[in-house]
Amino acid sequence: MLFRQQHHHLTVFAPAKVNLFLKILGKRTDGFHELESVMVTLGLYDTLEFRDDPSGNLTLECRDTAGGLASAPTPRPPLVLSSGPDNLVLRAAVLLREYAKVNRGAAITLAKRIPLAAGLAGGSSDAAATLVGLNRLWNLGLSLNELHALAAKLGSDVNFFLSPTGAAICRGRGEQIEPIQLPRPLHLVVVKPPSGLSTALVFRHCQPTQVGLSAEEFLDALRKGRHPLGDWWHNTLQAPAMELNPDIRRVARAFSRQPVLGHLMSGSGTSYFGVCAHRRQAMSVAGRLRAERLGEVFVVGSRV
Ligand code: ATP
Repeated sequence: MLFRQQHHHLTVFAPAKVNLFLKILGKRTDGFHELESVMVTLGLYDTLEFRDDPSGNLTLECRDTAGGLASAPTPRPPLVLSSGPDNLVLRAAVLLREYAKVNRGAAITLAKRIPLAAGLAGGSSDAAATLVGLNRLWNLGLSLNELHALAAKLGSDVNFFLSPTGAAICRGRGEQIEPIQLPRPLHLVVVKPPSGLSTALVFRHCQPTQVGLSAEEFLDALRKGRHPLGDWWHNTLQAPAMELNPDIRRVARAFSRQPVLGHLMSGSGTSYFGVCAHRRQAMSVAGRLRAERLGEVFVVGSRV
């Protein structure tokens, strides 16, 4: 998360993430799944601007700024994100205000670049950016621990974006964060097929796995430069997601024909990424995938 503080307003850049590793360990009695994941933030950002509103009103304006950021076979459909109280930005702002017992207001604008419901956790990142941004703007002085407690109430991925390193092992339902350092930035090509997929539906169809690598072993291999291949890139949600959405299988097949170090679906999809040796290679892989008209194609670095 990056900040720019100006006299009367604060700008926060809220990054997308991918899951480099995602293992579903089992279903819990509270309905959530127990998981182990390695997440990393990307250089693809939503931009949030916060201005103090002395009247005490909390307002949100959403702008779609996707145009020109990625190459798509057809333009991305217009943004269908509500700027009402169900938007995670306003939910985070209200929660923070209630917790801090203040009656401060803010005019917030959200410039949306991260594709919606894509497994890139744009909504969660916006929520985390709001907690941190308004804590600063309103001089609330809440500690990181307090922000983490609020984040966990807003969603399982929100805590990750409070991690100081931009990479973490996430456990529990995703909210238990162990910040980590990756040895070097990764060069990724991310493809977002035009169709979406419901996270809840994918989880309903997934079978927990107890076998295979742990997140630690995956990271060890990555750190030693033995780029994990084959089964080492694991996302338990990928098989059920591919069954539910043939676009993901198409993208996976397209990546398997490219000279990438590994490729995997992110989160519950439908975004899919390939890891490249360097940015030049990422640019040429992206060019070939664009020609296949699979969806929006982004070349992005990890932010670690
Ligand atoms: P995750 O990987 O955490 O499952 P995702 O990347 O699949 O998330 P998001 O784009 O983060 O999906 O959001 C999922 C849903 O949350 C959206 O379909 C939208 O209705 C709702 N939502 C609420 N606020 C926001 C926001 N600020 N940005 C994006 N989505 C939001």
